Amino acid sequence: MVQLNEVRAGERTVALPAHTDAGIYFIGTIRTPWTDRRAAPRQGCTDGPPCRIEVAPPWDQGLDGIARFARLEVLYWLHRSRRDLVLQSPRDDGAVRGTFALRSPARPNPIGSAIVELVTVEGPVLVVRGLDCLDGTPLVDLKPDRSLFRPPAREGGA
Ligand code: SAM
Repeated sequence: MVQLNEVRAGERTVALPAHTDAGIYFIGTIRTPWTDRRAAPRQGCTDGPPCRIEVAPPWDQGLDGIARFARLEVLYWLHRSRRDLVLQSPRDDGAVRGTFALRSPARPNPIGSAIVELVTVEGPVLVVRGLDCLDGTPLVDLKPDRSLFRPPAREGGA
């Protein structure tokens, strides 16, 4: 995994396109104990420390009903990653793999995802366990864990 922004032996970078194809809205900020990429877990675990997901206005209005889900999928923007690596050497030993065969934070669209356990909802703040991102990581989206989600029944339908 690329922990810092160096290019390691065997890794390959590409020139990034001049323009992006879409824009996203950061909907909040994630607060975690980690300020150093080397200290953050590689993958979050639900026995990890409680972390705070602070949902910003006006998006906090979209939290209605979220407390009924014990687990959520969280999408976040790994904002300190480089975006131009196509081959990476996770162990820095010269052996490389393609970016899309890895869960490295370095990717063209550095979106991270985690399934977290919802501990409490405190207004616009969700307390969760299971994250692996740095303090201050921008929040991209929240969804119920797909294994828990049932679409609302249609009116008049089964
Ligand atoms: N769980 C997510 C996934 O699988 O999509 C992210 C996994 S990634 C391997 C987690 C690592 O990314 C952490 O150990 C840390 O080194 C790094 N990281 C965490 N937050 C970051 C951020 N905001 N910017 C860049 N790197 C970050």
